[in-house]
Amino acid sequence: MSEQEKIIQIAGSITVDELANQLGLSVTKLIGELFKNGIVATINQRLDFETASIIISELGIEGVKLEKKNTGIKTSDFHHELSDKAVPRPPVVAVMGHVDHGKTTLLDTLLNKKTVEGEAGGITQHISAYQLKHEDRWITFLDTPGHEAFAAIRQHGAMLTDIVIIVVAADDGVKPQTVEAIKFAQGANAKIIVAINKIDREGADIPRTMADLAQHGLQPEEWGGDIIMVPISAKRGDNLEKLLDMVLLTADIEELKADIEVPAEGLVIESHMEVGKGSVVNLLVTEGELKTGDFIVAGSTYGKVRTMLDFRGKPKGKATPSIPVTVTGFKELPNFGDRFQEVKDEKTARKMALLNAQSQSDELASSNVTSSDLLRMMNTVDNTKMFNVIIKGDVLGSVTSVVDSLKMIDTKGEITLNIVATGVGDITENDVYMAVGENTVIYGFNVTVPTNIAKMAARDGVSIRTYKVIYELLDDAKHSMEELLDAEVVEEDKGEMKIMGVFRTEKSSIIAGGEVLNGKVEAKMLGRVIRDKQYIGEVEVESVQKEKIDVKELISGEIGGLALKTNKKILMEVGDRIKFFTREMKKKTL
Ligand code: GDP
Repeated sequence: MSEQEKIIQIAGSITVDELANQLGLSVTKLIGELFKNGIVATINQRLDFETASIIISELGIEGVKLEKKNTGIKTSDFHHELSDKAVPRPPVVAVMGHVDHGKTTLLDTLLNKKTVEGEAGGITQHISAYQLKHEDRWITFLDTPGHEAFAAIRQHGAMLTDIVIIVVAADDGVKPQTVEAIKFAQGANAKIIVAINKIDREGADIPRTMADLAQHGLQPEEWGGDIIMVPISAKRGDNLEKLLDMVLLTADIEELKADIEVPAEGLVIESHMEVGKGSVVNLLVTEGELKTGDFIVAGSTYGKVRTMLDFRGKPKGKATPSIPVTVTGFKELPNFGDRFQEVKDEKTARKMALLNAQSQSDELASSNVTSSDLLRMMNTVDNTKMFNVIIKGDVLGSVTSVVDSLKMIDTKGEITLNIVATGVGDITENDVYMAVGENTVIYGFNVTVPTNIAKMAARDGVSIRTYKVIYELLDDAKHSMEELLDAEVVEEDKGEMKIMGVFRTEKSSIIAGGEVLNGKVEAKMLGRVIRDKQYIGEVEVESVQKEKIDVKELISGEIGGLALKTNKKILMEVGDRIKFFTREMKKKTL
């Protein structure tokens, strides 16, 4: 037996086929696992490093290590080899955990406690990242409370996150999203610090929570493991200084560094349109220095940094690695998760954006090609139903989150979620037009429905549903998908009779008698008439008689007569068997 880890090298991305091969798995199994995770992939689809890592951990495959090819640093596949001029950078931290365990409270308390000059009030709603100062050093927090951001961060933020603080309520222990957070952090190669929260609560049990975590692979340092666990009260603020100390300690051990004498690069962490400003885009710089006036490209869009603000909304002349900023100047909205890059002039920017647009459409065109894929897809699409949705949200991040979370609903392969369109802003006439006739639901997240649009939708029979809480939206979607499921037919065998006499046969009724061989027969039961193993027809029991008196039932060993209803004329014969059963339609659930 070899103890050696198998190393799979990934240069940027890997195809489903190749990954399955390398893992020694069937492609179908891998595609199935991806599907469970909300990724509809085909055999030639390319998976990025983070997705591949997450899937491997979800599959529970051990002894395999993914390695990024040609990159010297772990956090992202677009970081370059660090030069010896690299300088320390602040850690980027995400807070994750089960709903109601206190993520928002922790972020809020930290923000109120630690922001310089107590400027929390001036912070806008969707900053998506902010900085705290502790011991005179900066820490960048991705502002991702709640489950809504989870799915999106899972897909895009992985490459940003150095440290994940997993919040676990001491009175509730490890819950499904805690496990999800652990997997996420491990898949993203981020360091984990556990904040055991709500220690002020009566039912708080720190040792039990630790044991719970240990069972899920996080061994506390106190017990000889390598995971730092800090008991805190996010609400009262207990031990938060210690938590931040641990963040800095972890950052020191990791020796987080970045080059700054290179063109600026980073990631789009939020984007939306604002009246009078155009595109407002939050970026997190990962290397280089971004300055106002720089030309930048992100995906298929580009622009010149017109204004740049820090997380407090104050003008900032330049942003160094790990620093989040809000910029204006992009011609169009880049996507959440897009990588941005500084280039030397407008011409280059335009050209690169165009090239990116082309390669994006090439990728789309080439991703689902082979005939066997098509066959497989047809096979699955054939017996699935479509749930069509249009999704509108207040900002791009929330739209992405809703989409990602919807995709994570396990429809057991019976419903295909079809996202007709997505967009930022209130529900419009156009959305309603798109939904008409297609049996499409329009979901609005944190947006409003102008009265005229609501009227129009009502007139055209289009369902618009707005939500402010993602869980409620997801519940609604799940419920709506369940409605689409066909009821399941459940049959239960009840008994069998051997026919000894047939007394009358009409077009749609029979009167016959016989002996119950096993089980029983009673009114309302259905029966299959069988002759020498051949199916003759179906009957329904109308009444049961014993010695010419109506009775409730005949049981095994008893002889009696039956009045039967039929759909068509059945010529029953002596010696036939009737197998009785009940049939129920059961609503399926997801
Ligand atoms: P999230 O869903 O993880 O963001 O959880 P929240 O931050 O919204 O917290 C859920 C509930 O737990 C709220 O009512 C909080 O006031 C409460 N809570 C959070 N942290 C603490 C804590 O340290 N102690 C106590 N007693 N309650 C807390």
